[in-house]
Amino acid sequence: MENDKMNEEHIFIVRCGEVALKGMNKPYFERMLAERIRKLLKKFDEVQVYRHEGLIFVRADKSLDKQAIIREISKVFGVASISPAVECESTMEAIGEAAVQYMFEAIEERGVKTFKVEAKRADKNFPVKSPEIGRKIGAAVLKGCKVLRVDVHHPDCRLFVDVRHDKTYIYQDKIPGFGGLPLGTNGKGMSLLSGGIDSPVATWMMAKRGMLIEAVHFHSYPYTSERAQEKVEELASLVATYCGRFRMHVINLLPIQEQIVQNCPEEETTILVRRFMMRIAERLARETECGMLITGENLGQVASQTAEALVVTDASVSLPVMRPLIGLDKVDIMDLAKEIGTYEKSIEPYEDCCTVFLPKHPVTKPKLEKILASEAKLDCEGLIDAAVASDEIVNIYPA
Ligand code: ATP
Ligand code: MG
Repeated sequence: MENDKMNEEHIFIVRCGEVALKGMNKPYFERMLAERIRKLLKKFDEVQVYRHEGLIFVRADKSLDKQAIIREISKVFGVASISPAVECESTMEAIGEAAVQYMFEAIEERGVKTFKVEAKRADKNFPVKSPEIGRKIGAAVLKGCKVLRVDVHHPDCRLFVDVRHDKTYIYQDKIPGFGGLPLGTNGKGMSLLSGGIDSPVATWMMAKRGMLIEAVHFHSYPYTSERAQEKVEELASLVATYCGRFRMHVINLLPIQEQIVQNCPEEETTILVRRFMMRIAERLARETECGMLITGENLGQVASQTAEALVVTDASVSLPVMRPLIGLDKVDIMDLAKEIGTYEKSIEPYEDCCTVFLPKHPVTKPKLEKILASEAKLDCEGLIDAAVASDEIVNIYPA
């Protein structure tokens, strides 16, 4: 049969969503997106990714796992949706034939009983108008597949027919992607990455807006274990499946924590530690051309995240601090963590440097003048210099 050829490869239509809104920048965004998809699909042989008429097409050898390819594409930021499709010549006969064959499979694989054709003519020179294409193809399918009925309101299958200049595409699924913008289109941020639930989600959210990621993690070895550190690396690897390979700076905060505990009021420990984390992160950010810091902080979640505490934390640095989770409820953050696949790793019970020397009654409304007075007792610059000098860099690869 003429359309047998369409079964020789998987074809996926990838839609660009918001990327398509970018006017003059559109080709640039599309190019970045296609590049990113190409990179993620590199692990499969015999995959082709190319741009065509405002869409991205992926063609893969039929022997490859269709679902695995869809999973990879749906991780690419900027992808609005993915449709596994079949292709045929743009003639009414060929489309009719392909539609019948397509519906045969839909009946077999999914038990489809009712359908509705949704035809669209991207090529306005095509001699048949969209409603007419719908009617004619619908009639062809009814004739070819006797078990099917048309249901315009609640069909089991919406049969999309997308008639383009050279070829026509037939599909039924629009598998949603995460949207966002292609990586590398929005600068680079230094993310403060803990082993908790929040910061991996915050990092993911900024990467979703096209930001490249560099990260810093603080530990308090030997109070925190090597296993705790491994856990963070594994967690970072999960984030890297979305944002690509990135560098993580690993810094021992213990010398600073000890100085704080010895010299400053106990209730200020947490906020003082946080200000040091921010300043070290800022230094690293400037050295690595990151334009901003990213944290998983969230208004009111814990003592160090009250409005007053966030103001005092912010005052320690001059780079802008992105807190993409600021207004979310914890349950929503947890849901997102589950959706992106970091939750299970995050809740593994390992020590965190913040829980070492945890004060019994942390200040919830710190005053900047008091905090500055406490810091005056420390050699802040010297401590930060030493911490930055002890920086160990770990390359994080996608899990
Ligand atoms: P998370 O779940 O991200 O750990 P949290 O709700 O536990 O957040 P805190 O532990 O107070 O809150 O930390 C607030 C933010 O500070 C974190 O989201 C993260 O960005 C940063 N942070 C905390 N601990 C560390 C750490 N050990 N290394 C790097 N960044 C950290
Ligand atoms: Mg934490």
